[in-house]
Amino acid sequence: MNLDIPYHLENYIDGNLIAPLSSNFIDCINPATGEVFSQVPNSNEKDIEIAVNAAKKAFTTWSKTSNEERFKILNRIADLIDENIEALASAETTDNGKPLWLSKSVDIPRASSNFRFFATGIMHFASESHSMTDKAINYTLRQPIGVVGCISPWNLPLYLFTWKIAPALAAGNCVIAKPSEVTPVTAFLLSKICKEAGLPNGVLNIVHGDGPSCGEAMVKHKDVKAISFTGSTKAGERIASIAAPMFKKMSLELGGKNAVIIFNDCNWEKMLKETVRSSFGNMGQICLCGSRILIEKSAYENFKKYFIDIIKKLKVGDPLDEESKQGAIVSQTQFEKVMSCIETAKQEGGTILIGGNAVKLTGRCENGYFIEPTIIEGLNANCKTNMEEIFGPVVTLQPFETEEEALQLANTSNYGLSATIWTQDISKANRMAAKVESGIVWINCWLLRDLRTPFGGIKNSGVGREGGWDALKFFTETKNICLEFGV
Ligand code: NAD
Repeated sequence: MNLDIPYHLENYIDGNLIAPLSSNFIDCINPATGEVFSQVPNSNEKDIEIAVNAAKKAFTTWSKTSNEERFKILNRIADLIDENIEALASAETTDNGKPLWLSKSVDIPRASSNFRFFATGIMHFASESHSMTDKAINYTLRQPIGVVGCISPWNLPLYLFTWKIAPALAAGNCVIAKPSEVTPVTAFLLSKICKEAGLPNGVLNIVHGDGPSCGEAMVKHKDVKAISFTGSTKAGERIASIAAPMFKKMSLELGGKNAVIIFNDCNWEKMLKETVRSSFGNMGQICLCGSRILIEKSAYENFKKYFIDIIKKLKVGDPLDEESKQGAIVSQTQFEKVMSCIETAKQEGGTILIGGNAVKLTGRCENGYFIEPTIIEGLNANCKTNMEEIFGPVVTLQPFETEEEALQLANTSNYGLSATIWTQDISKANRMAAKVESGIVWINCWLLRDLRTPFGGIKNSGVGREGGWDALKFFTETKNICLEFGV
């Protein structure tokens, strides 16, 4: 299979790789070099229309395939992802700017795990029955919905794209999927993999394009019955405003402004190691990154000293260099947004303890978008910097004196995706975990993922849960059947 990146990417509709009907394209830019290396279709409602028709046609047979058959095909896709890890990781890094070692060790392996996990999941998926003693029995069916839409962001491109597609297909739906127009390449390569794996035509349709033209056309289409969206809170709000009056099922995984709560009695070695990751992993471009670090006052100065010492050594560099711990920011737009957030933090009276500047590399990456890992202190909890998502390598430090104050600071946010608590006092940890307003809490760890667990946020971080049975329940309609035994 040829997984080289062509100059023009194509849509994958009804089993064919085809150009967009409008012939409109968007540049794909390597953020590490600033160079255009490919172009992605900017599809519109006409492309969505043919994709939906193909999906509707395919649904009549795909929804009736056995779980074993779907298990086999999804596993074949996973095998092909594993076999082509080098090409896929290299494409992800070219498109996104993340270090190649990260694409190879996290993004691409997770994409194949997603397929394997839900392939296996559907083999074990069961529904309930409710007995009314000797009078009647209720039993519940979970049936595929029909044509469903999946929309994903740029930060973990293939990882999050497949996290939606795999359960949707496993549950017997046909899918219209749109990756981010900023990082579409691995989704395009996935179309080739699906063809090779023998996925029947029309079961998965990957339509490329931007939000307003392609994404909205999908959300507005009357025959797309459910929307699974991961992205910004702003786009989620827009999507909900279109899909809610049409009574579509919706799962919205949105932004975050996550708190990391550090008590003096924690395991410092582990906490420091993991806080470096939770602050600057993937250049801070993970929805679960802890961008607000709250530290018990008695530990504040020590934490600051040790943390800065480690961050000083975090090398920002060419994503192809094994030594680079930090790669490029995904795009010029995101680079400018992060730099302007740093400016705002200064205007709000914040002190930059380390970082705060763009990094100018030489050679291949001289025109790339790189930013120093940045730590800021001295800001109040309600300022813009502490309230709005930055989604880049920027964290703030705030001291607290009591558990109550830590909770109050953590819960000041309008977001509620995840929180991390560091303490050796297990009672305190559990007390805090129950009261912190977020959908996910890590105690003495960060981003330790078990794909069976419910994943999602509260408040402005979204509606619904992904992962495990939650995903399979989302991608099925529930029907209760009541049978009275009679006399
Ligand atoms: P984004 O909202 O700009 O775009 C996400 C996707 O939505 C893209 O495919 C985009 O084309 C599409 N889109 C945008 N507007 C649309 C519209 N009106 N209709 C239909 N589709 C539309 O987000 P982004 O900049 O790609 O990603 C970063 C954001 O994603 C951050 O806010 C981050 O926190 C969030 N995120 C959340 C999670 C989570 O699980 N909660 C995971 C990763 C990223």
